[in-house]
Amino acid sequence: MRFTPILRQASRADTLAFIGVGRMGNHMVNNILLSSLSSPNHPQLQSAAGDFSPEWLHMKSGKPKRILICDPFKENVDNTLRRMREVLGSSGGVEVGVVENPYEAALSASTLVSMIPTHTHVQSVYTGAPSSSSSSTSSSVSPDSTVLAALKGGKLGKNEVENTLCIEQSTIRMDVSQQVGKEIEGAGGMWVDAPVSGGVNGAENASLTIMCGASSPASFERAKPVLGMMGKKVIMCGGLGMGLAAKLCNNMQLGISMLGLSEAMLMGKKLGLDSELLGNIINTSTGQCWASSINFPVPGVHLPTVAKPPPASRSYEGGFVTALAHKDLDLAVEAARHVDAPLYVGRLAEEIFRKVRGTEDWDARDFSIVYKWLEEKSGAE
Ligand code: NAD
Repeated sequence: MRFTPILRQASRADTLAFIGVGRMGNHMVNNILLSSLSSPNHPQLQSAAGDFSPEWLHMKSGKPKRILICDPFKENVDNTLRRMREVLGSSGGVEVGVVENPYEAALSASTLVSMIPTHTHVQSVYTGAPSSSSSSTSSSVSPDSTVLAALKGGKLGKNEVENTLCIEQSTIRMDVSQQVGKEIEGAGGMWVDAPVSGGVNGAENASLTIMCGASSPASFERAKPVLGMMGKKVIMCGGLGMGLAAKLCNNMQLGISMLGLSEAMLMGKKLGLDSELLGNIINTSTGQCWASSINFPVPGVHLPTVAKPPPASRSYEGGFVTALAHKDLDLAVEAARHVDAPLYVGRLAEEIFRKVRGTEDWDARDFSIVYKWLEEKSGAE
């Protein structure tokens, strides 16, 4: 067998399982490990002791004694585990291991954190993929290997089910997240949607901004210290799905502002302005935004606000890839459609980034490459 099964060797209440150790998840779980090694300091623990079962009280501190990872992609599992073992060195202190599927993760851990690609992956991990979805993909989970199957299967006691917290951090469709969250809560567990902003760097430096939606303050309070190990800002946005609502609004604005800045920069160039001069003017004027001050899209232009060369100066390598930027715009358009929100510019941004995605290998380049796309469209050099 490819995996080392680790089931019920240590207390379930002491255990956190991380599902999806890709570009983001591998850093996030590593930061949970690093934080868990530091000595616990829980000033509010005593006052809470009367309200919560002792079984998971120390998990309220957010520091698990055992961390399990779960991912069908063996290379990601091996790399993540190797790095975690290096962090542990000979000191131990926290047990690390692997579980084969979400069902085993839920049997073994009272806290589940997931960072996986799309809503179909989230359905597949938690409740089982709907029959119409691509259930034959290598990352799909059989219906009896889901978190829900573990919660309903009778192997866990009532307290264990009620102490199960699912923290879902992927950027996915809001309505699907709400539906899956309701199913988990219907089975007795807790659910928090907690998507992140800050990219791979933020995941690595534990400086993510984390936006949360939860149906009860208790779920959020339980998730907060866990999230605090991965981010520097943990913000409650409202009920189920509201973390995703905030994330999609932010990322739609991000796409629009990058497109707008790119158009302004190209227009300036064609009108005869120097790009560095115009960039500096925008950065001290009302057009200033993250795209202009940090992720400037014009290649070869170095602005004083930009600490390290942005992706535009590295052939648009790294950064926030166009595929994800477009995915988020697509999700925003879908969310707006559900609530009849007028979306003129957002819809247009989605359409343009969709076209950028279809160009050469630009799917995997930073989304500021939209500047280059406009330049090529206009025939400008
Ligand atoms: P990734 O593709 O690098 O990693 C996803 C991981 O999930 C992979 O290791 C994959 O094998 C694993 N996975 C797939 N199906 C699984 C299953 N059934 N069980 C367990 N693991 C499974 O993706 P990523 O860049 O880490 O992004 C993850 C999520 O975070 C996405 O929703 C993305 O939109 C969001 N996000 C990404 C960034 C970024 O800059 N990369 C920034 C913010 C948010």
